[in-house]
Amino acid sequence: MNILCVGAGLSGAVIGRHLAEAGHAITVVDSRGHVGGNCHTQRDADTGVMVHVYGPHIFHTDDAEVWDYVNRFAAFLPYKNRVKATTGGAVYSLPVNLHTINQFFGKTLRPDEAHAFITGEQADTSIEDPQTFEEQAMRFVGKDLYEAFFKGYTMKQWGCHPSALPASILKRLPVRFNYDDNYFFHRFQGMPEQGYTAMIEAILDHPGIAVRLNTVFERAQAEAYDHVFYSGPLDGWFDFELGRLGYRTLDFERFTYDGDYQGCAVMNYGEVEVPYTRITEHKHFAPWEEHAGSVCYREFSRAAEPEDIPYYPIRQVAEKALLSDYVARAEQAQGVSFVGRLGTYRYLDMDVTIREALDAARAFAAHAQDGTKPPAFFTAPL
Ligand SMILES: Cc1cc2nc3c(=O)[nH]c(=O)nc-3n(C[C@H](O)[C@H](O)[C@H](O)COP(=O)(O)OP(=O)(O)OC[C@H]3O[C@@H](n4cnc5c(N)ncnc54)[C@H](O)[C@@H]3O)c2cc1C
Repeated sequence: MNILCVGAGLSGAVIGRHLAEAGHAITVVDSRGHVGGNCHTQRDADTGVMVHVYGPHIFHTDDAEVWDYVNRFAAFLPYKNRVKATTGGAVYSLPVNLHTINQFFGKTLRPDEAHAFITGEQADTSIEDPQTFEEQAMRFVGKDLYEAFFKGYTMKQWGCHPSALPASILKRLPVRFNYDDNYFFHRFQGMPEQGYTAMIEAILDHPGIAVRLNTVFERAQAEAYDHVFYSGPLDGWFDFELGRLGYRTLDFERFTYDGDYQGCAVMNYGEVEVPYTRITEHKHFAPWEEHAGSVCYREFSRAAEPEDIPYYPIRQVAEKALLSDYVARAEQAQGVSFVGRLGTYRYLDMDVTIREALDAARAFAAHAQDGTKPPAFFTAPL
């Protein structure tokens, strides 16, 4: 079959590769001038630092097949994400762990003592059934840790008060009672030695795949293909006829530094008075490299306007209602499947994106073989 993948991010690349290997003719288009989607990395010409152009990306997964898949296309080196936070004039370890608790309260508690202290003396147990993010935080960590580490950061990230966000955004007990400061729990964690773009170029490097960059897809072009995998915005396919699905976007204020600016890859800023959420220093994502200069991003979050890059889907009540209307329309559409983070309007980590792309390509190949109609969604967006 003659298949078009809209988007040269992980979704389009993985689906395109799988179906090219199955003998289909694949065209991949992207409006940007590079492959890789939001995972795109590029070496800075002046410093040589590998920059995560659309924000920091750390690969982590428990999915052994996905881990084998990425290692087929790139050499991965060990990388653990260890984030720090500046708040109240001090620097702490994140996620909130025993070190953070002892430093913050000026104590020397052991794990069970810290657990008793937080759940017994800090947590507001009068809140029986937390409904909002704020109530959840007050119920499980208490006012002091909530205000230092969760409140301001969340207000900056989501542009609203934590009392307007659902409790489900915050885990029941978002603190650790040991000294584990590895941000992720997953078995497999690492960073591609030559960056994500080189890995995605390798995925797309197949004689059955033609890649066209700087090419904006429009719906009328679908007629030239037997099927389209669309990893662009779901509402964009329908020309935003029912309205726009809400996103947060990010502004990155780039600056360079002669030396080591902050000594770690990611420094969060918990206070609402500091307008940015975090500073990323890109060279620390590649600790095996040495660079005299440094490239940093101050990261600001705000509501996305039509011309902005959509980063994080908001998915509150109003957005979910609109999403369900678009899903109903999409299910009537012919010759297209909606995939990836924009096509299904969900936040997806890279490993989940690859897992869903592999599953979608396999399911599509089965439909192609027995002549049945592939679904609009291989993973339900709602
Ligand atoms: C700030 C940030 C940090 C992240 N950090 C991590 C992390 O640390 N670890 C992790 O696992 N995941 C992380 N992610 C998630 C990761 O970025 C996604 O999993 C991944 O990018 C999803 O790939 P995708 O192909 O579905 O979408 P995208 O990467 O968005 O690719 C979609 C592509 O489609 C193109 N496109 C859209 N519409 C059209 C059109 N009409 N015509 C042509 N081209 C079009 C776009 O230009 C884009 O290149 C992060 C995401 C963000 C926003």
